[in-house]
Amino acid sequence: MSFDQLGLTEQLLKAVTDQGYITPTPVQQKAIPLILEGRDVLAGAQTGTGKTASFTLPLLQRLTENADPHQKPRRVRALILVPTRELAAQVYESVKTYGAHLPLHVEAVVGGASIGIQTRQLRRGCDIVVATPGRLIDHVSQRNINLANVEILVLDEADRMLDMGFLPDIRQIMALIPKQKQSLLFSATVSNQIKSLAAQLLNNPAEIEVAKPNATAENISERIYGINREYKRELLSYLIGSNNWKQVLVFVRTKHGADRLEKQLIEDGIRTAALHGDKTQGARNKALEYFKTGKVSVLVATDVASRGLDIDDLPHVVNFDLPQVPEDYVHRVGRTGRAGLNGEALSLVCPEEAYLLAEIEKLLKRQIPRVADTGYEPVSLKVVDAPKKNAPNKNTGKKDYRHSKKTVARPTKPGNSRRNDAKKGRTASR
Ligand code: AMP
Repeated sequence: MSFDQLGLTEQLLKAVTDQGYITPTPVQQKAIPLILEGRDVLAGAQTGTGKTASFTLPLLQRLTENADPHQKPRRVRALILVPTRELAAQVYESVKTYGAHLPLHVEAVVGGASIGIQTRQLRRGCDIVVATPGRLIDHVSQRNINLANVEILVLDEADRMLDMGFLPDIRQIMALIPKQKQSLLFSATVSNQIKSLAAQLLNNPAEIEVAKPNATAENISERIYGINREYKRELLSYLIGSNNWKQVLVFVRTKHGADRLEKQLIEDGIRTAALHGDKTQGARNKALEYFKTGKVSVLVATDVASRGLDIDDLPHVVNFDLPQVPEDYVHRVGRTGRAGLNGEALSLVCPEEAYLLAEIEKLLKRQIPRVADTGYEPVSLKVVDAPKKNAPNKNTGKKDYRHSKKTVARPTKPGNSRRNDAKKGRTASR
């Protein structure tokens, strides 16, 4: 199938050709005709599948078709809600790119950026707003934006918005938008919670599912390094240095962990930046820009900050910590191997994380290959202990209520690490 079979106008086809796209992705093939028909859509599609274009292209077309050329100033006719600033930036860029040959105007409204500048831009008038919920509500309460003319509403990465506690904000925003509108809900995972949100928001939706949330792409090679926690950083530095990796996205669980690892890798002589929610928008943009342009080789990121990162040809993803939510493993790994390119995803897993690995493999319904010789003392990733309700987490010492039903592994003792060899790059077997 080609793009011109989807019913898109000349201007949009030109924008797609400018991007070098030849074939629409599965989500684009399914969603674009339905959205052009005016249907509400519930789409199960994750980042990397081409989902942004799948709603942006038909949205732009419908706004153009139904435009009133005499309407001045411009009214907000489409609202795209996203969970994070990074995703907002990406969607905003996509709207500008695909709408390059159309007279539509888009603004982004996100937290962490100057509210004054956004206010001026909104007051000048625009057709499309890409927003994170909290900042949008700030603008609504200051009467900087009127949502009474919204014709198309998109909730992108709806699962993540719910995870981040945005449901009350979404409800508040819904109350300000006309009932009569087209609504599109995109979510990586279609859980019961998402279905219930869809039932409240969507009118007789067409349902499409393109990539199952429990599947990682076949073009990504995944491997597990079983290693004691205290040697993870060494192994990471070794892997980056000895393989001469130039672009590695490293996931950690906490903001503090991101800062610490950034510092340690810099001490190891590796050009590194960190991206997390406590950084200012300016610092986040700079970190991303440095990573994209190769000024730094490593970007250390938390899950929330990494949502929506769209980096072409990202060859390596490393899970320095395993995620607490197994679906996040799929999202993280999906940062590489985009648009069919080959990618590599490595996870450094310590015994304390064995239960998280077990949950991920349960979701994937397969075992991720282990690297047999990591150059360090072999560790067991078997889940061995019976769970102790509310037992302190072995890593943090804090009580772990979340996994009270799950099992945790006994840590093995560090013993004879070959870390010095690793540091000097002498471990021949790797
Ligand atoms: P998304 O899932 O929207 O984050 O898009 C993932 C990546 O795929 C982005 O870099 C897009 O530019 C790219 N992309 C989107 N549609 C296509 C297509 N039809 N052919 C090739 N690349 C695409």
